[in-house]
Amino acid sequence: MLSVIIPSFNEEQLIMKTAEVISGLLKGQDIGHELLFVNDGSSDKTWEEIQKAREKNESVRGISFSRNFGKEAAIFAGLGECKGDCAVVIDCDLQHPPEKILEMYALWQEGYEIVEGVKNSRGKESGAHKFAAKAFYNLISNAAGIDMENASDFKLLDRKAINALLNMTEKDAFFRALSSWVGFKSTQVTYDVREREIGQTKWSTKALIRYAVTNITSFTSLPLQIVTFLGVVMFIFSLVMGIDALVNYFCGRAVEGFTTVIILQCFTGSVLMISLGIIGYYISKIYAGIQDRPRYIISERTK
Ligand code: UDP
Ligand code: MG
Repeated sequence: MLSVIIPSFNEEQLIMKTAEVISGLLKGQDIGHELLFVNDGSSDKTWEEIQKAREKNESVRGISFSRNFGKEAAIFAGLGECKGDCAVVIDCDLQHPPEKILEMYALWQEGYEIVEGVKNSRGKESGAHKFAAKAFYNLISNAAGIDMENASDFKLLDRKAINALLNMTEKDAFFRALSSWVGFKSTQVTYDVREREIGQTKWSTKALIRYAVTNITSFTSLPLQIVTFLGVVMFIFSLVMGIDALVNYFCGRAVEGFTTVIILQCFTGSVLMISLGIIGYYISKIYAGIQDRPRYIISERTK
C-alpha cells in the first residue's frame, strides 16, 4: 500500500479537491493507497474539511495537531502514523504535480527505496527570495555533502527509509536533508513547480528566516567554526596593531592611536557578541534536546 502524507495548514479550500485529485489518480491505476492529512493546527475549517473528505472517501485519514507545530513536524507525524509499504510526502496546494506520484511509485516498484522530487524550476519567486534560498541551500549542501539546491519535500520513501527517519531523535529534524542523509538506493524525478491553486503561501519572511536558521544549525556547526576563524583573524590583526603601537611608543608619538583603539574596541566587541550569539544558539538547541519535548502533539484523529 502507498501512503500519501499531506501536511495541511489553513487549506480549507483545497482539502476536498486535493483528496479527489490524488485519490482519483491512484484509483485509476489500481494502486492501493491511503491519504493521510495532517492538520497542522489550522485556524480555519481545515479539520472539518478533512473529516468531510473522510466521510466521502474511505481511503482518507486525518490527524490533527493541538496547535501549529510547523511543516516538518507534520511530515514526521505523517511518517509515524502511515501504514503503507512506502509513503509519498506532497504539499496540499497541488504545487507538486500529483501525476508524478505514479512515476515515483513505478520507480519504487523497480526497487528504488527513495525517490526524490527535484525542481526543474523554482516557480515564481522574487529575486531576494531566490538569492536567500540559494545561499541557504549552498550552506546546507556543503555541510551535508548532498546537492540540495533544487531539493523539495516532495519525496517517496520506502518503509525502510521511513523507519530510519523515525528512529532519529533530533528535535529539529530537517526532512529534506535527512531523507538524503539516510542513504538507501535513491533516484530522482524532476518536476515543474506549479502555481498555488487557491490561497497563499503560509510562509512569512520571518518564518522563512527562522526555518533557515533552525535547519542550518541542526545540520552544521560551520557557524561555530566561523567564530574560531574570526578569532584567529582578530588575533593576527591585533598582533600587527600591537607591534605598531609599541614602535610608536618607543618613537615617542603615542597619543595619536586613539582612533585605532576605538575601532579595535568596537570590532572586537562586535565579533565577540556575534560569536556568543552563535554559541548561545547551539546551547539553546542542546537545552531543547535535554528537555526532550515531543515534536508534536496529536489532539484528534478521524474515526
Ligand atoms: N504547511 C504546514 N504547516 C505550516 C506551514 C505550511 O503544514 O506551518 C503546509 C501547507 O499546508 C502546504 C505545505 O506545507 O501543504 C507547503 O506550504 P506552502 O504552500 O504555504 O509553502 P510554499 O509552497 O509557498 O513553499
Ligand atoms: Mg505551496
